[in-house]
Amino acid sequence: MIIKAIASGSKGNAYYITDGRTPLLLECGIPIKELQIGTGFKLSQVGGVIISHQHNDHCKSISDCIRAGLDIYAPSEVYTVKKVKGHRCKEIRPLKGFTVGTFYILPFECDHDCVNYGYLLHSNHSGERLLYFTDTYMVKYKFDGITHIMAECNYSVEAVDYSIAHGYIPASLKERLRMSHMSIDNLLEFLKANDLSKVQQIYLIHLSENNSQAEEFKTAVQKLTGKEVFVC
Ligand SMILES: [Zn+2]
Ligand SMILES: [Zn+2]
Repeated sequence: MIIKAIASGSKGNAYYITDGRTPLLLECGIPIKELQIGTGFKLSQVGGVIISHQHNDHCKSISDCIRAGLDIYAPSEVYTVKKVKGHRCKEIRPLKGFTVGTFYILPFECDHDCVNYGYLLHSNHSGERLLYFTDTYMVKYKFDGITHIMAECNYSVEAVDYSIAHGYIPASLKERLRMSHMSIDNLLEFLKANDLSKVQQIYLIHLSENNSQAEEFKTAVQKLTGKEVFVC
C-alpha cells in the first residue's frame, strides 16, 4: 500500500492511497489544483473520492471533483450540506460495504459533532487492509487483520492546557475538543484494544496546530506498538 498525505489538519485534508491497482483519494478538503499537484497530475485516474464528513477541511473541492468526473462516496449529509447531487454522488451507509475497483470498503460510524464515517479498506489485489478514521474522539469498534492505520491524533490534554493558560485558545474549546477529536491518550487506548499483529505502518493525521506535539506523539505510538510511525 502506498499512502501519501497531500494535506493534513484543520486547514485541509487529502490523502492519496493505492494498492498498486486502484488509486483512491481519502477526503478532498483542499483546492482541486492542489489535488492535481498532489496526485502527480493523475487525478483523472483516481477510482473515487471517499469522504468522512461534511466539514470543509474534508470536502472543500467536492463540486470540482464531480465536475472532473470522479465518483464520490460520502454520507448523504455531505451532499445536502454541499448542495451537490447526481449519479457521481454515491450514498453510503454505515456497516454496508461497497466496492471501488480492487477495494472492498466498509464504512463505520465515528463520534464527531456531525455524521462522520471511518473506513476499513480491504484490497483484493494486495490483501492489505487499511483502517482510516479522523475527527472522532473515540472508535467503538475493534478490527481484525489490519496492515495499515491512518488515525487522527489531534491533541494532548497537556498541550491544550498550556494553550489555554497562555491565551492561545479559549478555555471553552477544551470541551469541544474532548467530544469531537482524538487525543493521543484515546488513540493509545484504541491501539491497545486492537490486534496489531499484522500492522506494518501507522500514520498519525489531523494534528492540531496549537495543541499537539508531533515528536512526542510519534514516540508514544512507536513505544506502545513497535511499529513504523509517520506523522502527516
Ligand atoms: Zn477535520
Ligand atoms: Zn470535522
